[in-house]
Amino acid sequence: MRTILHSDLNNCYASIESISHPEYRKIPFAVGGDEELRHGIILAKNECAKKYGIKTGEPLLTARQKCPDLKVVKPNFELYDKYCTAVRELYGEYTDMVEPFGIDESWLDTTGSVSLFGEGKKIAEEIRARVKKEFDLTVSVGVSYNKVFAKLGSDYKKPDAVTVITPENYREIVWELPVEDLLYVGKSTKNKLNGCGIRSIGELARTSETFLYSKLGKHGKMLHIYANGLDTSPVTRVSEADIVKSIGNSTTALRDMQNLADVNIVFHYLAEQVCRRLRSHSLKCNAVQIYARRKDLTSFERQTRLKNPTDISGVVCEAAINLMRLNYSFEQPLRAVGIRTSVLVDSNAPVQLSFFEDAEHTEKMRSIDMLKDKINAKYGKRSIYRAVLMSDKTLLPEYNKEIYSACFNSH
Ligand SMILES: [Mg+2]
Repeated sequence: MRTILHSDLNNCYASIESISHPEYRKIPFAVGGDEELRHGIILAKNECAKKYGIKTGEPLLTARQKCPDLKVVKPNFELYDKYCTAVRELYGEYTDMVEPFGIDESWLDTTGSVSLFGEGKKIAEEIRARVKKEFDLTVSVGVSYNKVFAKLGSDYKKPDAVTVITPENYREIVWELPVEDLLYVGKSTKNKLNGCGIRSIGELARTSETFLYSKLGKHGKMLHIYANGLDTSPVTRVSEADIVKSIGNSTTALRDMQNLADVNIVFHYLAEQVCRRLRSHSLKCNAVQIYARRKDLTSFERQTRLKNPTDISGVVCEAAINLMRLNYSFEQPLRAVGIRTSVLVDSNAPVQLSFFEDAEHTEKMRSIDMLKDKINAKYGKRSIYRAVLMSDKTLLPEYNKEIYSACFNSH
């Protein structure tokens, strides 16, 4: 039997901010968007803010209504990344099979480490104690014999806790929980299952696989396997190099995007950032994915393959805009959009240029990008930017405020 741990940093962003500001621990505190612009949502909150009913993802405005004294700071993703990477390195001392899930969660396969460090529960307790002592952060850890139950275990009791789910006790612990607590049961699956009278994971487990298949297709079959503790998916070892499988960026616009022209501006901004990162890693992408969140918080994703690998902002941006044009007609305004590039290859790998491609034009676009990188590196990111970013200053996020004021005040 395998020993799988799932470790989750509790209230990650808020906890990391509290390391340098211990006074935040005693007050309702959250990390979120820009308040001056009455924009932004709660990205993370501490235990104290939770007591006011403040939820991740809710607008700052309503959070303020629930708790007028809420202290809010802007996110510092670089800092969070630093801590999360350090915590993952600590996990690496117990096994080389560590699979990150988001920034602050990881699965660990410690099957082979039991003889060295003791059983799963002991390893989990040790990790919990060490993260607290060495980082001043807390984790909740689930210990089980498959990934799905390990993840459930880390959600079961938090913060700063360990939950063990075994073949003997899973019926008492897991089967009592509502279906939506199971991995990959989102809102729409929950509604479908509830519509069939399936409310708990136990009810899901006891429903016939054939019936679930008829209602949910393959996904239904998979959930049946999960609910019965029969998940056998491996913890995939991820080296730092493998993490760069895709490079992307997304942003919530300052105001809702009403049409393709609005999205065009934001996509230019995102494509610039994404491609700069591709170039800095000497990578090119073969596929572009877009992500969009509507005003009602529902979202969609679409992707396309490119004819040739690229790291040119203009090419990625054009692919993203085409995807949006083909797939969305703005029945509802959009709140956030993102661009992700994937199927990455070394930028020096030889490429068979297609016969109709204007290689000269492509090279020109590329040299403009490279030159822009150089100027930005030397004189700062405000020194040069695309004119399209200036065409509507009400859209882009707060960190561009400086660019705007530099531009509009001096010209
Ligand atoms: Mg977490």
